[in-house]
Amino acid sequence: MDFSKWVLLISALYMLLLTTLSNCSLTPEELAEIPVNFLKFAKRPEISDWMVGIRRKIHENPELGFEEFETSKLIRAELDKMGIPYKYPIAITGLVGFIGTGKPPFVAIRADMDALAMQESVEWEHKSKVEGKMHGCGHDAHVAMLLGAAKLLQEHRHDIQGTVILVFQPAEEGGGGAKIMADAGILENVGAIFGLHVSSRFPIGTVASRSGSILAGSGVFEAVISGKGGHAALPQHTIDPILAASNVIVSLQHIVSREADPLDSQVSLSLSLSLSLSLSACVLVCVSGEVVTVAKFQGGNAFNVIPNSATIGGTFRAFSKEGLMELKQRIEEVITRQAAVQRCNATVNFNDPFFPVTVNSEELHQYFGNVARDMLGENNIIEMKPLMGSEDFSFFAEVVPGYFYYVGMQNETQGQLQPGHSSYFTVNEDALPYGAALHASLATRYLLEYQPKSTSSNGISHDEL
Ligand SMILES: [Zn+2]
Ligand SMILES: [Zn+2]
Repeated sequence: MDFSKWVLLISALYMLLLTTLSNCSLTPEELAEIPVNFLKFAKRPEISDWMVGIRRKIHENPELGFEEFETSKLIRAELDKMGIPYKYPIAITGLVGFIGTGKPPFVAIRADMDALAMQESVEWEHKSKVEGKMHGCGHDAHVAMLLGAAKLLQEHRHDIQGTVILVFQPAEEGGGGAKIMADAGILENVGAIFGLHVSSRFPIGTVASRSGSILAGSGVFEAVISGKGGHAALPQHTIDPILAASNVIVSLQHIVSREADPLDSQVSLSLSLSLSLSLSACVLVCVSGEVVTVAKFQGGNAFNVIPNSATIGGTFRAFSKEGLMELKQRIEEVITRQAAVQRCNATVNFNDPFFPVTVNSEELHQYFGNVARDMLGENNIIEMKPLMGSEDFSFFAEVVPGYFYYVGMQNETQGQLQPGHSSYFTVNEDALPYGAALHASLATRYLLEYQPKSTSSNGISHDEL
């Protein structure tokens, strides 16, 4: 097909898309007021202080993945107080709440609940009370924001033209809680899901995101390299696994530096056509780039003993499923064969499943831009570069169109915030109303603007309702 035909086809699909969006009864001005009003509501002290209280309570009692029993209990108690029905448990501690008509269309907004296995170094009144556990990624703020959104939405439930599903998921930090919730069918008949993350990189009052791939897919590996231990002064009688593991680590670093195309580290644009359910024409932003990092190296306990084995482990990242699978294969080959050079045996294990690449729908990117612009103004919408970090939100975005974005927290007058996973990480609680209002606005306007044709949705509902 030549270029002019592509342009014609894309134009036709775009017109079709506009027609499907024309069911909304509100004027553009009335739609634009929704995010502005939600932000005003969320900034009212009775709501913002309440969110701060919830966030601090959760911060004091951090719980690791699939152990968020108290956090989940607190969420359910707040939903009970608001009169919001929910389904629990899903994926051990997870739950989903429902606000609106109980009928289609459905849209989901999501928060993760788990903390990290690390010691908090920040000295403040609401410091973690649990030794070795800390909300060092801001998931305590995410729960508070989603509960804030629940409050805003419940107060305006009679204006909701469909059903908002509140997703509180366990175990984002490596546990893949999102996959278990998605497998449980929580997104059946859902049109879209939105997720956010607080960020110390971007200023307060801004949001940042991008279309297409935003976060890498990732896998984890661990290898045990076995030799023959013995006296450190008599290496000729041993097979040294430490030396073998050292060579393995060096060789692993050659996978990306010698085998990946150096030009792949640059972001490239390609035009492609998405014939998804929405029949929208879309520009996919294709991203490459790979990482292999060995972050764990354990072997031996004495100065004068060569151990029997050494263990190494690490992570690998890529922006495609194929890229991840190629890295997996090469990591296994390099470890086993390089170990064999040193007369050692090696066994390699990988986590399952790998976290997929987080891909933002182009159509939702446009939609998000419209809503966020109405709330925050054009200058506060940041088009960001992809990150090599990964998110299990990607499991949701594999099932239905998904959109993941960052909510800025940086306020230079209050000093430099530390990034997530630092033991000095702090949350600027002034960001809580922004997250709550964005969640509520994205959900409400989505239901207004993406009303399905009436005949197509008869009989569809969530059995929980
Ligand atoms: Zn994290
Ligand atoms: Zn996180």
